[in-house]
Amino acid sequence: MVQYTPMIQQYLQVKANYQDAFLFFRLGDFYEMFFEDAINASQELEITLTSREGGTEERIPMCGVPYHAAAGYIEVLIQKGYKVAICEQTEDPKQAKGVVRREVVQLITPGTVMEGKGLQEKENNYISSITMFNDATFGIAYNDLSTGESKATILEGSYEVLLNELSTIGTKEVVVDSNFDSDLKKKISERMNAIISIEENINNDHEFNNILTKLSNENLKTSATRLLHYLRKTQKRSLDHLQPFSEYEVNQYMKLDYYSKRNLELTESIRGKGSKGTLLWLLDETVTAMGARTLKQWIDRPLINEANIERRLDLVETTLQHYFERQELRELLKGVYDLERLSGRVAFGNANARDFIQLKKSLTQIPAIVTLVKQLNHIEAINLADHLDPCEELTHLLEKSIIDNPPLSIKEGGIIKDGFHNELDTYKDASRNGKQWIAELEKEERQKTGIKSLKVGYNRVFGYYIEVTRANVHLLEEGRYERKQTLTNAERYITPELKEKEALILQAEEKCIDLEYSLFMEIRETVKSYIPRIQQSAKIISELDVYQSFATVSEARHYVRPIFNNKRQIHILNGRHPVVEKVMGSQEYVPNDCMMDSEREMLLITGPNMSGKSTFMRQIALTAILAQIGCFVPAEKANIPIFDQVFTRIGAADDLISGQSTFMVEMLEAKNAIANATKNSLILFDEIGRGTSTYDGMALAQAIIEYIHDRIGAKTLFSTHYHELTVLEEILSQLKNIHVSAIEQKGKLVFLHKVKPGPADKSYGIHVAELADLPKELINRATEILNELENEEARNKNNLEKSEHVNEQLALFTEPVQTKYTEHERNILDELRKLNIMEMNPMQAMNSLYEIQKKLKK
Ligand code: ADP
Ligand code: MG
Repeated sequence: MVQYTPMIQQYLQVKANYQDAFLFFRLGDFYEMFFEDAINASQELEITLTSREGGTEERIPMCGVPYHAAAGYIEVLIQKGYKVAICEQTEDPKQAKGVVRREVVQLITPGTVMEGKGLQEKENNYISSITMFNDATFGIAYNDLSTGESKATILEGSYEVLLNELSTIGTKEVVVDSNFDSDLKKKISERMNAIISIEENINNDHEFNNILTKLSNENLKTSATRLLHYLRKTQKRSLDHLQPFSEYEVNQYMKLDYYSKRNLELTESIRGKGSKGTLLWLLDETVTAMGARTLKQWIDRPLINEANIERRLDLVETTLQHYFERQELRELLKGVYDLERLSGRVAFGNANARDFIQLKKSLTQIPAIVTLVKQLNHIEAINLADHLDPCEELTHLLEKSIIDNPPLSIKEGGIIKDGFHNELDTYKDASRNGKQWIAELEKEERQKTGIKSLKVGYNRVFGYYIEVTRANVHLLEEGRYERKQTLTNAERYITPELKEKEALILQAEEKCIDLEYSLFMEIRETVKSYIPRIQQSAKIISELDVYQSFATVSEARHYVRPIFNNKRQIHILNGRHPVVEKVMGSQEYVPNDCMMDSEREMLLITGPNMSGKSTFMRQIALTAILAQIGCFVPAEKANIPIFDQVFTRIGAADDLISGQSTFMVEMLEAKNAIANATKNSLILFDEIGRGTSTYDGMALAQAIIEYIHDRIGAKTLFSTHYHELTVLEEILSQLKNIHVSAIEQKGKLVFLHKVKPGPADKSYGIHVAELADLPKELINRATEILNELENEEARNKNNLEKSEHVNEQLALFTEPVQTKYTEHERNILDELRKLNIMEMNPMQAMNSLYEIQKKLKK
């Protein structure tokens, strides 16, 4: 055992409990790090690595940051996904016997940041805990420490279901027990880029009862308790401001898996992080940070309950129709600060007087907002307004007590207004009178001595003094002035009266500061008791902000209110892709209709590259999502069903960015859609099968189409460059061909981006090559090869037709190539395809076969 110095021993003891964090060890004005921490931190923070004596032969690696600049360094580490334990001196070094006592006062982690750049204004910062109850049941509890929002849900299903939900939440940190499946842990940190933390304690000794009251499910309580223990352990303070956990069910919302969200660029663009070019970016006309966060939550969870959707649409419509009220509402909202995070800081004990001024200003906007929202003249709006709480007594208290431009620090006075507190006023008077007396002293002394340049000044070391230039020193009365300090050109003196007054002033000032601090703390406690009321108003204000944002965008971009039907109809007239339209301008954008109904469940879309297939498909999905979050949609008319889920798969070749664009991933994703889609889902398959050889790809594409057509019946848009698939229209009763056209104009290929019925013209490939000015011979040769291939195909077809007579079975299974069946035969094939052989016994199977054969012979 090496003999470290007592301080290093203390360091090691503390560090032992914080193995997975950087330990910021307070030494005077610095936070120091030692050993491994120092080596790693010096790299991550780009600061100099030094060393110090530690009692052993070898010096100990060390690096440090000044405490007043620590916040910035901590932020860097947190953003890189590390944890930082803050270890402070918890006793006065002057009173310490031996080593100063030190304790960790807070563990800052990516999921628990309360301030600084690590906390995005427009985004929630969630931390979740997961408890696995068996292979397929998970309890998730999550919380945003900065706003107090707390939610919980039980999930049934595979790991994928869990990962999806975590990505919908957008969690930065996940808390689990130490037995948690390591494979799943790895997946979570990879997919979510979230850090994993361990918390074993799930005992609820009634201490969290208030926060857990709304949870009925024991499993959820367990998960929530785990999270609360972790939060308390890391934050080491009250969790009073946390709102009670509310339980939700994922089935209340439209299901959108992670890949679909990414493909549709709902809140994150495919090209890197950032929100530019996303639906969120398009829709964000919110004025408050709270509104922006709510908007993101709504986009992440579209609704499926028609009444709830209509309620939102009603509110958007009425906000849209009241132009002037809307403008005024926007103005008023600009005066509302982030009430949720203000409450968070109050409860957390790090709110300062400036926060209170923001709180006061925000609350004083509320009465005007109430009046205005009532003018929208809609029952739901009035209902919202009625629940807005201006907390008048609180604003009154803050108005009376806190000065308008308080300093950041709450420990140096200058916070409390005159007239708020008698005793404080007395001290203030004493200090002011004293200062007045001193100002007058200067005049008196000048007269008495006849020295015009005499002045009275103050510095920290000597306190108040009388300063006289050297040349005038001889004019001073002997014995009255005591010399304190000599400067190059002047001498500084004190007198007994001056010192007496000084003591009074300093005493009064000190009392002022102490009293102001304790008054501030009292006020903070009062504010704390208002938190639930403030949070309620905050919620309503965020909601109002989103409605005005939807209304603003819908008006500016000429969106219409969607209408819902349950007749399996999609009737979109002149629909647009909202983001592409915004980026290119509405003049340029070519609107397109989309017509589907119970007879047209699938559209097969062909057309050359760059013609607009993907854009068309996505605009349908985005229209559905916009409608279901309660926003108007980019179309002239839109009558659509409510979808329970939306799936989008894009072919490997198109998915250039993800880096994992393997065919396997594409197939896994396709499987996910096929396994989970229902009749009420919307599926977009964009060039599926492109990532493999032609025949493979085509065969798979066809099989997938048939499968969805026959077994799922979801509304499906399928784009393909396999022209051969267009013949499916004749076989599959619900499938229709459409195409996006391109024409040649003055020797150039012009994309019209117009969706038309029927399959695309076939030979555009070579045509495009021609337009691109490839050598003439090459083009001719390509045409030759194409003809050969086509002839070959025709020959094969003939052969097949011949063999049809010889071997009926073969014809049956190569049927997709065959198009010459009669209506009667096609019906029989359909029947055959739908037979559920797995559920038949041999006798039933024989009978069915017999029936079918009989029909065929008719
Ligand atoms: P495809 O999937 O057929 O290859 P995309 O949907 O990717 O084609 O569209 C290619 C480009 O064409 C888009 O980036 C967009 O600029 C433009 N485009 C697509 N649809 C339209 C439209 N309806 N109006 C105007 N431009 C469009
Ligand atoms: Mg495409």
